[in-house]
Amino acid sequence: MTTSRRKLIAGNWKMNGLKASLAEALAVAEALERQPCTERVAICPPATLIAPMAQVLQGSQVQVGGQNCYTQPMGAFTGEISAEMLADAGASLVILAHSERRQFFGETDESAAEKVRAALRAGLEPIVCVGETLDERRAGRTLEIVARQVRGSCPPELRGCVFAVAYEPVWAIGTGLTPTLEEIEQVHGAIRGLLAESLAEAGRTAPILYGGSVKPSNARDILAASEVGGALVGGASLKADDFLGIIRAAA
Ligand code: PEP
Repeated sequence: MTTSRRKLIAGNWKMNGLKASLAEALAVAEALERQPCTERVAICPPATLIAPMAQVLQGSQVQVGGQNCYTQPMGAFTGEISAEMLADAGASLVILAHSERRQFFGETDESAAEKVRAALRAGLEPIVCVGETLDERRAGRTLEIVARQVRGSCPPELRGCVFAVAYEPVWAIGTGLTPTLEEIEQVHGAIRGLLAESLAEAGRTAPILYGGSVKPSNARDILAASEVGGALVGGASLKADDFLGIIRAAA
């Protein structure tokens, strides 16, 4: 099974959202019901909201995803949530190795690859995040860093599977800064080359999302750039109107 060429617009709510925030997700789903779009749309809320959000969005066009998972399916791992638990709660995707996980929780390419295997085991679609820091970009090491992360975080088991990679320059996340379109295209092109080389057809077709300060005003240009197969959206996914503005820009 391989991914389609439909763009994937995924919202990452991070550690934001209480039960009242389900209204924003519902507003997105209702707007898409009134005026459907051809793109795939997902919201990844905090773990506490996955089950209620899956219930609220049942039958809608909006998928629900997790933001992380543990490698093991069950057991004595206090505080962790397995991929199977995410799936059981109604998730169909999971964001893995987000830069905040790498930065604050010690995640590595190795742990990312293990989590990808866990996600596949549970039938979840992994969204594997990669991206360079500002220092790395200034040192001219962007392609080297991203290549290392893609090679290390995308294991061979992804061959034949549905997955996505998200290129998220760390310095662009939550800052309002974005790379130029040429820079985005250069990195996405490099990621495509690496994926195609190591993962055959799945690597040739997996969407490569761009993430980092995507908003309604810049989404159209970014989403039209070569090899940009969608967006991973943080802050602008918290409000239905902003998120819908990005979704509509993908058409
Ligand atoms: C993110 O953290 O995945 C992200 C892209 O955040 P923002 O859109 O707020 O920059």
